[in-house]
Amino acid sequence: MAESMIKVEDKLYFNRFVVDAGKPHISVRPHKIPSAQLRSLEYMCPAGCYSANDQGQIEIAPDGCLECGTCRIVTSATGEVEWNYPRGGFGILYKFG
Ligand code: SF4
Repeated sequence: MAESMIKVEDKLYFNRFVVDAGKPHISVRPHKIPSAQLRSLEYMCPAGCYSANDQGQIEIAPDGCLECGTCRIVTSATGEVEWNYPRGGFGILYKFG
């Protein structure tokens, strides 16, 4: 009998995220043309926090961020992402899944 497959999206549903309204812990520095590293975050971020706007610039909505650090590492050479942990009491809670 085959085991039932659990998708990543299903597992992410068990997490809880406490939004620190008005104080995002990650931001993208202003830019006109994003580097290839920054653009790649549209596909690399496991929480889907990065997206391109109509001008092709990359934006972040850090609600749901898993604090994995991928975006911090990928853009470490370009410095396009300002990365901090959330303040105490905010951010991801993993204890539900
Ligand atoms: S730390 Fe991980 S989950 Fe959070 S925005 Fe960066 S890549 Fe996405």
